[in-house]
Amino acid sequence: NEELLRKPDWMRIKLPPSSQKIDHIKSTLRKNKLHSVCEEASCPNLAECFNHGTATFMIMGAICTRRCPFCDVAHGRPLALDPEEPKKLALTIKEMGLRYVVITSVDRDDLRDGGAQHFADCIREIREHSPQTRIEILTPDFRGRMEQALEVFRDTPPDVFNHNLETAPRMYRVARPGADYKWSLELLRRIKEMHPDLPTKSGLMMGLGETNEEIVGVLKDLREHGVNMLTLGQYLQPSRHHLPVKRYVPPAEFDELKDVAMGLGFTHAACGPFVRSSYHADLQAKGEEVK
Ligand code: SF4
Ligand code: SF4
Repeated sequence: NEELLRKPDWMRIKLPPSSQKIDHIKSTLRKNKLHSVCEEASCPNLAECFNHGTATFMIMGAICTRRCPFCDVAHGRPLALDPEEPKKLALTIKEMGLRYVVITSVDRDDLRDGGAQHFADCIREIREHSPQTRIEILTPDFRGRMEQALEVFRDTPPDVFNHNLETAPRMYRVARPGADYKWSLELLRRIKEMHPDLPTKSGLMMGLGETNEEIVGVLKDLREHGVNMLTLGQYLQPSRHHLPVKRYVPPAEFDELKDVAMGLGFTHAACGPFVRSSYHADLQAKGEEVK
């Protein structure tokens, strides 16, 4: 039904005019050949986040070994890792004066540790060059490489560990063909077991065809695996070659799900149409109220 799938009013927002700070951040990224998810995914929150001193970087290149049909990242054979990347990233973060960064990556099923050591190298360099910056990592599932990855993060934990379940288990076959719901939950559980004080976080997209009951089921699973923080946002179709949006979830339903999440014991739950995994990550981590 075409009518149903037209963007509802609440999905239409205008970006505020770009500020000097944003221009500065963009030019710094370009100069250092770094990728920000904020820009590449044309994130609707970009102005807000950059003005807050928050950004999300994608490390280990922009080519993924997997092909999730909701995701706009290119797939294919990735390039070799750039050993200079951790340092370049750290110096850029310092130069940009960022207070909170989210570091994420494509899936690197071609690497023996799935890229865990490269994440850790980035954490180490950022701590050295920009010690006041808080670091959240948003990782792939390290499928088949959990032990190697855990070994790396034993010595070099981030300030927040984030791994997205993305959707309800029933949707995995269609939406996340290379992933496994239980595996992802287990990764989150094992990190928490290893570092009980490290906040763990996960995110879900809505509108792919899941029901709200299924989402509540995922929230319960997350809490049973010790996860502390949640993001819940609307899926947007990157192009007509990607999975269609089945439903635009009204803001009131996001509010209800937020209440459910808080009732289940999440310390933070950012739920709303424009919420992304890294949206208001700085406020979430500081414990401030996030709508
Ligand atoms: Fe960047 Fe995330 Fe903010 Fe979007 S929500 S602008 S991806 S930090
Ligand atoms: Fe996109 Fe991640 Fe899937 Fe790769 S694994 S296609 S980056 S969602």
